Amino acid sequence: MKIGIYGGTFNPPHLGHLTSARFAMEALGLDKLLFMPAGTPPHKVLPEGSPTPEQRLRMMELAADSMLLPDRVEISDLELQREGKSFTSDTLRQLHEVFPDDELWFLMGTDMFLTLHKWHEPEVICSLAHLAAFARTEKDTGEMLEIQGKYLGETYGASCTVVQLPRIIPVSSTQLRELLRKGEGRQYLAPGVYGYVLRHGLYGTKADLKHLSDEDLKACSLSMVHAKRHAHILGVAGEAVRLAERWGADKEKAYRAGILHDCTKYLELEAQLAICQKYGVEIDELERKDAKLLHSKTGAAIARGEYGVDEEIYTAIFYHTTGRANMTLMEKIIYLADYIEPNRDFEGLETLRRLCYEDLDAGLEMGFAMSVADLKRRGVVIHANTQGALDWVREHRKGP
Ligand code: ATP
Repeated sequence: MKIGIYGGTFNPPHLGHLTSARFAMEALGLDKLLFMPAGTPPHKVLPEGSPTPEQRLRMMELAADSMLLPDRVEISDLELQREGKSFTSDTLRQLHEVFPDDELWFLMGTDMFLTLHKWHEPEVICSLAHLAAFARTEKDTGEMLEIQGKYLGETYGASCTVVQLPRIIPVSSTQLRELLRKGEGRQYLAPGVYGYVLRHGLYGTKADLKHLSDEDLKACSLSMVHAKRHAHILGVAGEAVRLAERWGADKEKAYRAGILHDCTKYLELEAQLAICQKYGVEIDELERKDAKLLHSKTGAAIARGEYGVDEEIYTAIFYHTTGRANMTLMEKIIYLADYIEPNRDFEGLETLRRLCYEDLDAGLEMGFAMSVADLKRRGVVIHANTQGALDWVREHRKGP
């Protein structure tokens, strides 16, 4: 197996790291890539007020997750766990013990590669791993890298490969920290990383979470879930806006409800129960055992408790999984947007989509009828609110 190791301080991890990592993986044919955040970088001092090691690790996880290659891209906390300076030679020794039969490839940008001979034990680094170097800016020429590669080869027996990146993102974490302090720079970060920065007030950002712009709210919400769910969340928000436009609801609120509706989707049951406890959310016996059912209630609690949404958005999120009798217009919109957003694909979807724009309650009836039938088929207990919603919408459509 060919394993790439991409070390760095990642304070914060940015698109320069991710883009170069992706291209290098392809160019070198790597089976795996390990991002390796440094605990105590030997060549840099972490600026005062830097995030904690755990926060750097979490940002790196979010950044790596945004590459959507979960089987090939991993994070290693080897250097964060190790005491003392994070020397690459020690890391490669450890990795070589774990992967004795695999090829290790150490990836680096120009700045690191050109100074490698000054690092601790360069001969060990060069004997344990192939080196792959790429440019960080347009000014870094391939020739410069070739010369250094030749020198490292002659001096330490290094095997060096220069990777030509088809696209260079000329940004550094230092520049980004400065930009973030001024409220700029989000375009250089994966959305989840930017949201995490805002939520934790890192790098001098002082976002008021209860009064975020749509863009910042989106980033915060996306930072709470796996990247594979992002398309669905954005799909629901977009669909909710279209339905709101069609049926005369508040588009802004529909967007925010859609953006936040799944924000607690990946929390473990324990964490969901803790949120219920904190915000005084009442739950029944069925919900107590089922994180899937709970996420709509905890999502609503977080939306209100952390992001300050109003009652209309709160209940739309609260009932987006089960529905209920006497649903408000916003509740119907979010329930149905979740059902028919553009990433969905199931039999009957086109009919349901058409109904949702012709006759909202007819769409609602079809949605609940399909849900109930599906739950029955799978032998899942039907929540009283869902049965209640179906009975209510049927009655309601019959009229007096
Ligand atoms: P700082 O500004 O704090 O020094 P940095 O942006 O250089 O940070 P590091 O985490 O120190 O980021 O870098 C880790 C690795 O990523 C290094 O090998 C570096 O050369 C490479 N790298 C950093 N930025 C880019 C970029 N924009 N394009 C390609 N490689 C990059």
